[in-house]
Amino acid sequence: MSTRRRRSHYETDAYLRREKCFFCDSNFAYGPHAYHGEFLKAHQILLCDGCLRGTWGGIGPAFEAKLLRHLEEHNLPVPARNSKGLLVLSR
Ligand SMILES: [Zn+2]
Repeated sequence: MSTRRRRSHYETDAYLRREKCFFCDSNFAYGPHAYHGEFLKAHQILLCDGCLRGTWGGIGPAFEAKLLRHLEEHNLPVPARNSKGLLVLSR
């Protein structure tokens, strides 16, 4: 018996859908079997898991300008700011 593990077709790159993170521009798996990010409907943006975690306590100044531009372009409301003055995403 072979000890070599066969790759299932579900694991091949061609089968996985990949999407680009709105904030950090990284490509991450987004279905159909692995979701390493989430689409935030209220803001119409797709974020990777890292950015979802990283923005939990508010959006840093590096990403705020990009988000505000996007919200304005799509005529979407600007989310509320927290006590530190950072915009907080709705999930
Ligand atoms: Zn990201």
